[in-house]
Amino acid sequence: MTDRQPVRSVAVLTSGGDASGMNAAVRAVVRTALHHALDVYAVREGYKGLVTGGDLIAPLTSRDVGGILQRGGSIIGSARSDEFRTRDGRRRAAANLLERGIDALVVIGGDGSLTGADTFRREWPQLSADLVDAGRIDQQVVDRHPQLRLAGLVGSIDNDMFGTDMTIGADTALHRIADAIDAIHSTAASHQRSFVIEVMGRHCGYLALMSALATGANWVLIPENPPDVEDWRESLASSLEAGRRMGRRQNLVIVAEGALDRDGEPITSDMVKQVLESHLGEDTRVTVLGHVQRGGSPSPFDRYLGTVLGFAAVECLVAGEADDEPQVIGIREQKVVSSPLVECVERTRQVADVIAARNYEEAMRLRGRSFMESFRTLRTLTRSKAHTPTPESRHLRLAVLHGGGPAPGMNTAVRVAVRLGLDHGHTMLGVRNGFAGLRDGAVRELDWMSVSEWVWRGGAELGVSRFIPQGDDLDGLASQIADHRIDGLLMVGGWAGYAAAHALHALRESKPALGLPIVCLPATINNDLPGSDLSIGSDTALGSIVGDVDKIKQSAVAAGRCFVVEVMGHDCGYLALMGGLASGAERVYLPEEGITLDGLRADVHSLTQGFATGKRLGLVIRSEHADDIYTTGFIHALFEKEGGNLFDVREAILGHVQQGGDPSPFDRILATRLAARCVEFLLEQAGQPDPSSAMIGLESARIGFTDLSRFPDLIESGPQRPIEQSWLSLRPIARVMSGQPPHPVDGP
Ligand code: ADP
Repeated sequence: MTDRQPVRSVAVLTSGGDASGMNAAVRAVVRTALHHALDVYAVREGYKGLVTGGDLIAPLTSRDVGGILQRGGSIIGSARSDEFRTRDGRRRAAANLLERGIDALVVIGGDGSLTGADTFRREWPQLSADLVDAGRIDQQVVDRHPQLRLAGLVGSIDNDMFGTDMTIGADTALHRIADAIDAIHSTAASHQRSFVIEVMGRHCGYLALMSALATGANWVLIPENPPDVEDWRESLASSLEAGRRMGRRQNLVIVAEGALDRDGEPITSDMVKQVLESHLGEDTRVTVLGHVQRGGSPSPFDRYLGTVLGFAAVECLVAGEADDEPQVIGIREQKVVSSPLVECVERTRQVADVIAARNYEEAMRLRGRSFMESFRTLRTLTRSKAHTPTPESRHLRLAVLHGGGPAPGMNTAVRVAVRLGLDHGHTMLGVRNGFAGLRDGAVRELDWMSVSEWVWRGGAELGVSRFIPQGDDLDGLASQIADHRIDGLLMVGGWAGYAAAHALHALRESKPALGLPIVCLPATINNDLPGSDLSIGSDTALGSIVGDVDKIKQSAVAAGRCFVVEVMGHDCGYLALMGGLASGAERVYLPEEGITLDGLRADVHSLTQGFATGKRLGLVIRSEHADDIYTTGFIHALFEKEGGNLFDVREAILGHVQQGGDPSPFDRILATRLAARCVEFLLEQAGQPDPSSAMIGLESARIGFTDLSRFPDLIESGPQRPIEQSWLSLRPIARVMSGQPPHPVDGP
């Protein structure tokens, strides 16, 4: 065994372009380091601070990083530094770290910042030797810090880096873009105008592609996949013209700032405007979104991402995983992963090189499967009408319906399913009011334009119902399915929808009409369904929770208060835990753990101690079914009594606002991807002698199907939730962030 020096001090810096969510990462690095009893320093102003030293490298306490989760940008400053590009600058940086005994660094930035950090790490032994030779640093100090350990987190709105499926800041940027485009939609539709929106992304079309999917744009131009035609102008103009003929009230073209044509020449937003004006004679406006995309409060996802990655970065350094090779910490397939930093930077640069060499096929391949799939789906969705079916093609009748409560993103999923089904030449039927509507025969055909504005609309245009058929109802359903000659069923919904779909499926042998393929797509804010780590609607609900809690926190700080906030979730604590992580709650009460008197006593103790030593705000989040006896009102009363003169307590029950609102970009994108795969599933299964039925889901970020027959085996017998819930593994992180011991003090 080598005599490895344990990590004692860690420094964190943010560098390059700022990105929303960097603060969550800084907070997590600081609190995780303190949890491991390490010294932790912030390097202010990025590499500039590292080179300058002095006050720019200063220790941070847990309280220093309180109240920063909701702030955009980076509270420790992010700057570019030319000095750090020189060896002399890096030597000064090494001296500044060695003087403070720091030999572990978390760098949050883009590929430039991570490249710089790697150069610094490689040179560390030589820089240290130079400093000894120059008499700046003692040999003993250098001996104690023979290497620099480095963990990189990618902060970049472009989502352009290998080593992570999502970069910190990209989701917030999508929120900003979608908000802007949603606002433009209404004015565009009122005046029948055309709009060209330019979004960021010099070498990466992620923001353009995903915002096009999320907003129902009619055309998108990205660097990786220029229009596959000689004359893109002609092709764009004829597609948009066809859309107008079909009755589209608006034209919306999204252009990535690095968009190219097949010859590698830039396509600018002004060029697109000229095409629309000259070829179509349309009144066209260009909106360049620019820095708006960087700014504003981070989305719940970016707060979550910054938190889990910051936590994992310190864990990685402490465990010695970055001793031999610097690591990028990212998420892949919903899991935190670390990958060799140098390789991530190289592969990232490779995409830019491949684009420059006009090898677009390879550029798309390097972006990965879900990027390519999304592009293909978008191509179909942006058509003005379905392809004309060939006489020999098969013709099916597929129905779509909802079950359970409303969830944002349901309409998005229906729109995608209807358009893709029609495009394959099938008849698409919409069922009103779920399984109750199907029993009563509320079935109508949906055409291409009937779903045209559903992409961003909250609620459920088809109507929902919590009806679960039993007995005679099942006969009624079977005869309606037969009468309407339905060949396959897509159920977009929550618990009741799953239970109903399973009830139908279970009778397929005794009732031949029920022998059709059924696919369930998870759509509920509660995220309580088996077969998927995530359901559509829960990201939007989190956005609503976090937005409200941010406001509540502001009012509480002003008055020195503790708030007890109750959130929805039925028997599943997902919204409470994720809401707590993203809003900085110090305690979260979950139905999975219950609430005990000992636990409450410990919480009262920690609150009174906190307020007695200068704390100004308390926040606890309680999931609505966390405990039958210790209700929100009970906890409010208990804290109020025990708080005495130290603090007062208010309760806030957030209620049904959590189910409303327009779907978030993430929910729209997930709805689109899942619905596209559901249609493929139904087309594959319909007409088979013994068709399968399934629940689609995102498990380990891969879209997959679970046999619907397994529904009862995958859920708990009493409470409404699945037996396996991957998000429960985040509980220790929530505890470290709130300064509690990492293991639950109450409950399992
Ligand atoms: P990003 O990290 O967002 O890609 P930049 O490319 O501007 O942003 O890099 C940010 C900073 O990282 C630069 O100002 C510089 O200090 C440092 N840096 C970037 N590339 C290198 C490099 N090759 N060597 C040393 N430092 C670098």
